[in-house]
Amino acid sequence: MTTLLKAQPLVDQKIADLTKRCQTLIQNGRTPFMKVVLVGNNPASLTYIKNKKRICEMVGAKFELDQLDDKITKDEFLKHIEKLNNDPAVTGIIIQLPVSPELKTLRITNLVNPEKDIDGFHSKNTQWLYEGSYQTNHLLPCTPKGIIGLLDFYQIPLKGKHAVVIGRSLIVGKPISMLLSNRDATVTLAHSKTENLVELTKSADIIISAVGRAELITVSHINPQRKTVIIDVGMNTLDGKLVGDVKFDEVSPLVAAISPVPGGVGPMTVISLVENLILATEKKS
Ligand code: NAP
Repeated sequence: MTTLLKAQPLVDQKIADLTKRCQTLIQNGRTPFMKVVLVGNNPASLTYIKNKKRICEMVGAKFELDQLDDKITKDEFLKHIEKLNNDPAVTGIIIQLPVSPELKTLRITNLVNPEKDIDGFHSKNTQWLYEGSYQTNHLLPCTPKGIIGLLDFYQIPLKGKHAVVIGRSLIVGKPISMLLSNRDATVTLAHSKTENLVELTKSADIIISAVGRAELITVSHINPQRKTVIIDVGMNTLDGKLVGDVKFDEVSPLVAAISPVPGGVGPMTVISLVENLILATEKKS
């Protein structure tokens, strides 16, 4: 029987815990306050933001969106972020990507004060990954943090296991590779130039696919004897439906466990973001 690594039971647990922690902070006069800065009105970004707002409000935290004109100059944008960095009431800031072409030359990830960087992208926060952290008291990037949370919740052993991560982006592939290595997995990081992907995935105990290509992982990538665990990070549209990177119907019967899309990594990313908000507020208290 294949185990479906659904996020919902863990999300429910986390919401209960975060609500308690949020109440304690508010009683002590420190309301967790998330500010999201959006440049323009990208519809996908607005959907992601709506989700962040929903979970924030569910746990009792304050949420505000600053929607800036896409013609904003670099100077105006930098001043806006600086104002938020210096506002003691704001405890977590997200600059929603993508920004306008004018702002793309800025080193966006390092603009937010690292103590308020709840996306966990600032170099001072990613440094923890290099130093071997898997601690929960650091502001770690949200998707990788959520993936580890999901694997732990379903008691999937990592120590000594061969994990093949496909995709080497700064927001998913690289940080999840580090986190897995920090948890004593043996990690192979594959990408678009990898020549022997099928060979690698067939020798994997855990496959993490973060590519963004529907049906990339098929039966040919799986060795059914290995009882592989798959985490599907991909978010793609196929025939008008949201799907992951894995050809789910044919692959899922051949593996021990797999995270569904939707309902797997996606909700874990948002809950990890709100967890980072609460953590950032607690650290300031
Ligand atoms: P990205 O920055 O576009 O990176 C994609 C990676 O995939 C690159 O490293 C690329 O290799 C690699 N790649 C492309 N084609 C490949 C192939 N045929 N074989 C092996 N590797 C290949 O993407 P991302 O931002 O990491 O996102 C990846 C996917 O995860 C997207 O679908 C995104 O929507 C989704 N995502 C989901 C969540 C969530 O919460 N569920 C969060 C973040 C992202 P090169 O480096 O060689 O170009």
